[in-house]
Amino acid sequence: MSENLALVTGGSRGIGKACALHLAQAGYNVVINYAGNEEAAKQTVSELEALGVKAEAVKFDISNHDEAQEAVAKIIEKYGRIDVLVNNAGITRDGLFMRMSKENWDAVINTNLTGAFNVTQPVIKVMMKQRSGAIVNMASIVGIYGNAGQANYAAAKAGLIGFTKSLAKELASRNIRVNAVAPGFVQTDMTKSLDSAQIAEHIPLKRLGDADDIAGAVKFLAVDATYVTGQVLQVDGGLTI
Ligand code: NAP
Repeated sequence: MSENLALVTGGSRGIGKACALHLAQAGYNVVINYAGNEEAAKQTVSELEALGVKAEAVKFDISNHDEAQEAVAKIIEKYGRIDVLVNNAGITRDGLFMRMSKENWDAVINTNLTGAFNVTQPVIKVMMKQRSGAIVNMASIVGIYGNAGQANYAAAKAGLIGFTKSLAKELASRNIRVNAVAPGFVQTDMTKSLDSAQIAEHIPLKRLGDADDIAGAVKFLAVDATYVTGQVLQVDGGLTI
């Protein structure tokens, strides 16, 4: 069994869970992070273990700098390495900008963008020592094209794309690749209030994505795409062509 380790933030549910399972299928031991839903995290860990890898769920709030850095340090202490980091955890607090509260602005920026800062910094220290690693950041097509009612979310995801490209340039000489996936509409808890039939009409592939569609792209960038760095792969059923 490979002793390579993948860390997936927000790996307890939705897209993150699918990423964790795809990486486990590729032979990685997996640490998933989650914010509060312990039941989902436990369920995901048992599904990961059933694939024959080591798996663990670690609860921490990625938006809390000290908490996230301490938790990542403990993971590194325990496993000695991190080969793949998927910065996946994210939230929405949608609303028209005119009426957007500072609280909803801060919550989304602090989780979706600063959360990646908080987790990535300790991870790249160990990746730099290893002289290898792959990071995949979960952006969104909204971070490229914008979306009315999601100024906070679009700003965070656009920030994550700039972060991806800058880190790719900084870390390439250490053999660390940094890419992003930009999903379109994906069926998860995050999108369960949307009218999926109506949205599907506007998507060339005539359906919303599922978590496995996104996880396949993440696994490709993290594991297979050994000469790809600084890229943003849109996985949206053709919505933006
Ligand atoms: P989801 O089903 O709502 O799952 C979110 C995950 O993130 C959960 O595991 C949750 O943990 C975790 N999380 C949330 N806040 C956290 C925090 N502060 N610290 C640690 N973990 C936290 O979401 P999803 O639809 O799978 O989305 C995953 C990523 O894809 C997000 O970055 C999202 O922006 C992006 N994305 C989604 C879509 C879509 O259509 N669904 C489209 C484009 C991009 P708990 O289970 O403990 O709550």
